[in-house]
Amino acid sequence: MSPKAPITQDVMTIPRKLPEGKTNLVGLTRDQLREVLIAHGTPEKQAKMRTGQIWQWIYQWGVRDFAEMTNLAKAYRAQLAENFVIEIPEVVTRQVSEDGTRKYLCRIAGGHEVEVVYIPEEDRGTLCISSQVGCTLTCSFCHTGTQKLVRNLTAAEIVGQVMMARDDLEEWPTPGAPKDETRLLSNIVLMGMGEPLYNFENVRDAMKIAMDPEGISLSRRRITLSTSGVVPEIARTAEEIGCLLAISFHATTDETRDVLVPINKRWNIEELLQALASYPKASNSERITFEYVMLDGVNDSDEDAHRLIDHIKRHNIPAKINLIPFNEWPGAPYKRSSNNRIRAFANIIYQAGYASPIRKTRGEDIMAACGQLKSATERARKSRKQIEAETGLQG
Ligand code: SAH
Ligand code: SF4
Repeated sequence: MSPKAPITQDVMTIPRKLPEGKTNLVGLTRDQLREVLIAHGTPEKQAKMRTGQIWQWIYQWGVRDFAEMTNLAKAYRAQLAENFVIEIPEVVTRQVSEDGTRKYLCRIAGGHEVEVVYIPEEDRGTLCISSQVGCTLTCSFCHTGTQKLVRNLTAAEIVGQVMMARDDLEEWPTPGAPKDETRLLSNIVLMGMGEPLYNFENVRDAMKIAMDPEGISLSRRRITLSTSGVVPEIARTAEEIGCLLAISFHATTDETRDVLVPINKRWNIEELLQALASYPKASNSERITFEYVMLDGVNDSDEDAHRLIDHIKRHNIPAKINLIPFNEWPGAPYKRSSNNRIRAFANIIYQAGYASPIRKTRGEDIMAACGQLKSATERARKSRKQIEAETGLQG
């Protein structure tokens, strides 16, 4: 962690408006949107067309006010405004790191907070979004893992993070203007807070909306879902979302993985590898990312590197290995491996014929790096007893 102060920190105090009894249209699938329109007086015959129009206003043009939906009759716009809202999470604070990384703290219903991180790179801009407030799992190196699961995010809150970032990047196109193909926000990774496969339906619906060609229209190849290894949901991810997959692998023996990623007690390395080997989307052009956090003296030996390769080769998995230098957080029980160790580990993997990029640490000065996310208001630490009870449950 760098002790440096963030470059900027804006605190926004716009009050959250939650009009009683109105339905939020954000996060509904097209079918659900059509249903709520009909339920609130849109004639069935018109419903399909109205759904398409409203969808475009929300997801293509980023409009939040029904009054701006100029291809709808005035009276109909008023009727919509009476029954519905178009609402996304509210930005509470925004920090910009020295390296351009932006971290947003967003408030969602119930006063909970989630963090969202935008990482600009030369050829792309990646938004790291959260799927839960806290996490039920208790990976011992992860800051989020020390926070109890508060609740799952709704589909609106998940796709709303993408819409929020597009607002901040001022990336909604102007109706009628020529199409601009350069995208500040070109990729999404589900690598923020929470285990996305323990909130499957909401994550799926939100990503379907982000992929819809008449809206945000990100290709499924530009969305990566990271899981700690919820084996039964892995095949479903390919079938129902179709995005790329990353696995928090982190250890090469069950003994060590049981400690680092306790869900391993439920589905062990061999079961996980089998699920990956049969991931229907995996191919040479759509390789599975193995995330591997480098912890000094714990999982970073040459033997580990060789075992990792053996696992992947034995199952013939199209893979790339993403080495993540451990990001420390207050009270973390591990240290980051030395740069030399990380390079030596990467080299063994590279020699075996696999890409082994070392993930550049981004936004560390604002605690935006992998595994550092945790909302300031919800720092309640899990007790050891609780962690044991929960891992027992998973195990
Ligand atoms: N729950 C999902 C996605 C969120 S974590 C999962 O576990 O995959 C995103 C990635 O950051 C995971 O690979 C996670 O293991 C890694 N990570 C967590 N804490 C970290 C830390 N302190 N330093 C580096 N990487 C970390
Ligand atoms: Fe949850 Fe992922 Fe952190 Fe594990 S690494 S505690 S699954 S967020």
